[in-house]
Amino acid sequence: MSIEEYYLPKSIEETIGILDDPGQDLLVLAGGTLAMPLINEGISTPQKVVGLKNAGLNYIDQVDGELIIGATTTLTQMESQEDLPILKDAAQAVGGWAIRNMATVGGNLFAPPPGGDFAVALLALDAKVVIASNGEERTIPINEFFTGFMTNVLDPGEIVKELRIPLPAGQTSYQKFGRRGANTPSIVTIAVNLRISEETVEDAKIALGAVGPHPFRAIKAEDSLVGKSLTEKNIQVAGALAVSESEPFTDPIASTWYREKMIPIILSRCLESIQR
Ligand SMILES: Cc1cc2nc3c(=O)[nH]c(=O)nc-3n(C[C@H](O)[C@H](O)[C@H](O)COP(=O)(O)OP(=O)(O)OC[C@H]3O[C@@H](n4cnc5c(N)ncnc54)[C@H](O)[C@@H]3O)c2cc1C
Repeated sequence: MSIEEYYLPKSIEETIGILDDPGQDLLVLAGGTLAMPLINEGISTPQKVVGLKNAGLNYIDQVDGELIIGATTTLTQMESQEDLPILKDAAQAVGGWAIRNMATVGGNLFAPPPGGDFAVALLALDAKVVIASNGEERTIPINEFFTGFMTNVLDPGEIVKELRIPLPAGQTSYQKFGRRGANTPSIVTIAVNLRISEETVEDAKIALGAVGPHPFRAIKAEDSLVGKSLTEKNIQVAGALAVSESEPFTDPIASTWYREKMIPIILSRCLESIQR
């Protein structure tokens, strides 16, 4: 089966109107960097495609103390925003510039591991995901979005409309470790967002990518740091807990063993960069 109908709606209302038929064989297309190679290879054969390009979801805004990012905002656009430097680092960690010119913030939530490098930063920032459909709009914390390997909470007919991030963030750090310095799949990606008062951690958010079925928060590692200072010992404990919360895997990039070894090392680099 080849694509029979291609829609290019001009608003979110028009988009969700087209989606409002759960039985149809329809693919939502954002930047296309993940979806188009699959169509090209005949692995994905949707009957209908809805392109989000003109749906009015390309924006970065600040409203009521939140940074609002439309789902089709590109990673190149995220590189030039100044509100949250961690988002700049995370955008620059994805692919090469040609990919970032097309790849979208919303699309990154759907990247299978070891992808999802931008989503890791969104998790550490405690972003909310706004989901639109022909019914009511709903908003969920991003750590409730992922349900398994390439699965999420979206129901048929729903799309990701935007991300909302509370401002200001705490002290943040982002590290993607791969085989090369740039344009490389992840071995482990970690984002950290800490609130520290008088050398004591008051709140910790630690997100990991490429070491599980989807990007996730390492809650035990976070809890171990709250009420403590960033000593070498406390950092080591957090690293060991982060490993215990991960499900590293072997792929052509790295083995399970190597990913596991790198988790505490990359986490300590993140935490030490905040400490300095
Ligand atoms: C050469 C190459 C290098 C890459 N390197 C990296 C990397 O280093 N790190 C990384 O994380 N990723 C990487 N990727 C994967 C990909 O480019 C990014 O994850 C990108 O952010 C995906 O966004 P997109 O808009 O292109 O998604 P698309 O291909 O348009 O869509 C992907 C999937 O998400 C769904 N989708 C997209 N937007 C929405 C929405 N708003 N609502 C509902 N469903 C939606 C689509 O239906 C589709 O199933 C790479 C890809 C390539 C080809």
